[in-house]
Amino acid sequence: MDKKYLKNTNSIPISYDLIVQAIDTGINGVVITDNNLPDHPIIYCNAAFENLTGYQRSEIIGHNCRFLQGKDRQQQERKRIREAIEKGESCKVEIRNYKKNGDLFWNDLTISPLKTQDGQITHFIGIQHDISDQRALYDDLERERQKLEQRIEERTEILQNEREFADSILETIRESLLVMNADLKVISVNQHFLRTFKVSKADTENQKLYDLGNGQWDIPQLRILLEQVLPTNNPVLDFEVEHDFPHIGKKIMLLNAHRVELAGSYKNRILLAIEDITERKVIEERKDDFLTIASHELKTPLTAISGYIQIMTRNIPSDAGVQFRSALAKAEQNLSRLNSLIGELLDVSKIQSGNIKLHMEMFDFDKMMVEIVDAMRCTTTSHTITLTGDVSRTVYGDEVNLSQVVSNLISNAIKYSPNAREVGVFVGTVSDYVKVSISDTGIGISPNEQGRIFDRFYRIDQTQKKFPGMGIGLYVCNQIVKNHQGTLWVESENGKGSVFSFTIPLGKK
Ligand code: ADP
Repeated sequence: MDKKYLKNTNSIPISYDLIVQAIDTGINGVVITDNNLPDHPIIYCNAAFENLTGYQRSEIIGHNCRFLQGKDRQQQERKRIREAIEKGESCKVEIRNYKKNGDLFWNDLTISPLKTQDGQITHFIGIQHDISDQRALYDDLERERQKLEQRIEERTEILQNEREFADSILETIRESLLVMNADLKVISVNQHFLRTFKVSKADTENQKLYDLGNGQWDIPQLRILLEQVLPTNNPVLDFEVEHDFPHIGKKIMLLNAHRVELAGSYKNRILLAIEDITERKVIEERKDDFLTIASHELKTPLTAISGYIQIMTRNIPSDAGVQFRSALAKAEQNLSRLNSLIGELLDVSKIQSGNIKLHMEMFDFDKMMVEIVDAMRCTTTSHTITLTGDVSRTVYGDEVNLSQVVSNLISNAIKYSPNAREVGVFVGTVSDYVKVSISDTGIGISPNEQGRIFDRFYRIDQTQKKFPGMGIGLYVCNQIVKNHQGTLWVESENGKGSVFSFTIPLGKK
């Protein structure tokens, strides 16, 4: 080493031995190679280098540094070291090295050339330390990062697939769908909406629902319902809107709105589904028209046949045989059945067209009940009908219509309890209402059917084949009771029987 050089940089003279001692006790491994000797052998190594590599000084001196790479010769870093040596430059690498016992360690190596005053490279000094722990930590982190990245990729793919799936449903569905935020501003719409209303996304998205088109959705009652969806979680169900829409003309739409629920939690979004029911309504109207015309047309010849049968019954020849008499009786029976079926159809068509007229007057309710129960007793030999209770006052209502309700409920109680023997009829007052209950111990009605049996033409599947009927009776009864500002309901258990009850206001005294 050049003592003058040392003196110049530190301003104080330091002995060569002191420098060697300092290097020897340092914690970094230090080697010096001689550039002027063939294959640049190591001519010096410190104790830390011996510790680092596990080799003894005697096994190190004279070797080229490459012995530390063992068979691991393809590392890019070796090329960088070679180039630096060729160019006489410094370089820093992290290289895989192997200890004497074969253990891998990551070596953080810096090499620097030592030059003479005229720039000739005489030696290279290599300073190194073991960074295996840091590398292991780094590798762990890297592995975790890669795992995380892979998980994110997989999750993103799943989400994307789910999104595409949901989008394809939204786009295929034959119903117009709108998603709105809490201010009822439209966030997105599906293609069906755009096609149905002949509008573009720009006309719709980011607009308030009430400002769309010519204000067709700005209906005070709808406003109240929609504004309640998020605060109360109450959906809007089957809200009918009839409107002359821009571009598409007069239409009837059915609206349903629900709060959006994702992964079990409610979002501040409303999904509004709009169904065009214009055609369905037209078809229903045609069906109702057909029903009205058909029942009226059938009624006329039926009345004539009825008249002829009455004449025949009155004029039965005295010598007529049993067979003739029984045939005539059966014809009369079936005719009256046909009459009541057509009567029911007429009732439906009257209700549908809103033509049902009530003849409201005060009448003796108890007398009506006794008359109906007596009449019903004549129609059955299988069941005993028991009447209990009374109203003991006149009631305001349409006697003919209310008789129809009671007799319908009694005849259902008989029909749907083929294995029972009794039907109970109760009549009484509750507060300022009349209450009538008809109970049977028949086949009963399951809870999920109980809400539907009052629908027009609804019949329970299992009973369809066994019992004749058209599914109209309860619908008509319900409408008549409703027209009296009353309520009709059923309490029933499958296999155990049913109780049909209705209440109507007693009306003025
Ligand atoms: P229909 O008797 O002509 O089918 P309704 O409108 O009177 O029509 O009744 C509708 C349905 O309700 C029936 O088909 C039957 O399944 C059920 N139902 C009505 N009354 C009873 C009853 N008392 N017990 C069991 N089921 C009944």
